[in-house]
Amino acid sequence: MEDKEMNNLWKRAREVYLRLTNSEADRSLAERHFSNVEDLRTDGDTLVVSLNSEQTKSIFENKMSDRLLDALRLAGAPESFSLKYVVAEPKHITIAPPKAQPLHSQFQDSAAAAEEPLGLSLKPEYVFSEFVEGMSNRWALNTAKGISKDPGNKAYNPFFIHGGTGLGKTHLMQAIGNELKANRPDLKICYINAEAFMNEYMNALQKHTLDNFRQRYRTLDVLLMDDVQFMASKNNLQEEFFNTFYTLQNNGKQIVMTSDVAPKNLPALEPRLMSRFEGGIVQSIEAPQFETRLAILKKKAESFASLIPEMALVFIAENIRSQVRAMEGALNKIKVLAENDPNFKDNISNTVLNIILKDQIDKEKKIKAITCQDIIDTVCSHFNITLEQIQSSERTQELVLPRQMAMFISYNFTQLGYKQLEMHFKKTHATILSGVKKFKNHLDTEPQIVEKLNEVINKLGFSMKDMRD
Ligand code: ADP
Ligand code: MG
Repeated sequence: MEDKEMNNLWKRAREVYLRLTNSEADRSLAERHFSNVEDLRTDGDTLVVSLNSEQTKSIFENKMSDRLLDALRLAGAPESFSLKYVVAEPKHITIAPPKAQPLHSQFQDSAAAAEEPLGLSLKPEYVFSEFVEGMSNRWALNTAKGISKDPGNKAYNPFFIHGGTGLGKTHLMQAIGNELKANRPDLKICYINAEAFMNEYMNALQKHTLDNFRQRYRTLDVLLMDDVQFMASKNNLQEEFFNTFYTLQNNGKQIVMTSDVAPKNLPALEPRLMSRFEGGIVQSIEAPQFETRLAILKKKAESFASLIPEMALVFIAENIRSQVRAMEGALNKIKVLAENDPNFKDNISNTVLNIILKDQIDKEKKIKAITCQDIIDTVCSHFNITLEQIQSSERTQELVLPRQMAMFISYNFTQLGYKQLEMHFKKTHATILSGVKKFKNHLDTEPQIVEKLNEVINKLGFSMKDMRD
């Protein structure tokens, strides 16, 4: 293989590898590891990767090799291709591998960058027009849009967005930043995450430039602080952030924060910070429903729609539902295959997709193990009844319908069989089976029951499409 060809292959594989990582933290770690590659050469069908130390060699060998090989194949390497790792001898370095192109550039801390905006850079694609609205994110999206029109308005200051990982918090937060940058060049805006904020703070401590650091943060118009859960149990950081927060808020400046949990569930958060966080508007982003998932996939696949049949998008939306990021990972995997195989569209089927996306689907099964308890709790709260009433043998209409509905959902949305449901309902499996059947019959004739069922299923983060076959 020619050097150029090899370098290109490596570049693509590296890109695929990074896209296959699950979190931003993993991604930046992987980027760091890639930057330790000193040299590449081929030896027959073996790609020999030289690393700058024994330690990185062992990381590549033990932690990264499987995925890297997958990525190489997805990037077009022949099946027979294999990998070998060596430690580079400094004098023999020949070809410089393509340098890591950071997905996020680090914050600027040099004096030369004084003119530059503070914090981390915004991704240009994280804008409102690329964000698909759904029931799971409607409120947070509306608030974010409101802020982008009138930052600092007391109605939504501070704004705290929480929700599971990969559900769009960062996208939404950066969309506020992008919108304001475009329309309000007069404002000083900073997007940063708690970790980078801490690094910068530590740096300032060491270099005795705290005054400068504080001055920069406390004169902002808009502070977008991502992933504040990182501050938990870091007392000096919380103290610093509190003071920044306090100053900004007192001056009517906008603060937006995200976290993977609600403020009240942030461990080791100082009470005064907690009460500040809760003092504004707190909204959550949930996992999107099927229709939203499909709409998101269509949006993400817009630029390469001709390569990928709709059934593949439907397949992903049906099978990967806990994280938008995981869906995107699956879509990218399919995209790379479609780009490299002219017959992809003709040969694709659910069976093939199942094989290609096996890892993602297996992972999903583990994540989204919804329990019968969740279902019964949700039905009870929706109909305002108790667990004891569900489990009782009382046969009033107010109880029969919710009871049958809980049985129906439990059977159709978990992997449990009738026998395994017995203990949850304190009924025999025959009673449960009959309850499920009766409920199903209602669905064919009574639209208002279908509507109620939909409401409960949506509350659980599912849609009817997610039902087992
Ligand atoms: P979080 O910060 O919650 O972990 P991100 O904002 O990083 O999640 O989102 C993960 C990925 O999912 C991003 O690529 C983002 O664009 C995408 N995403 C999430 N929700 C939506 C949505 N409603 N519409 C379009 N893309 C979305
Ligand atoms: Mg995020």
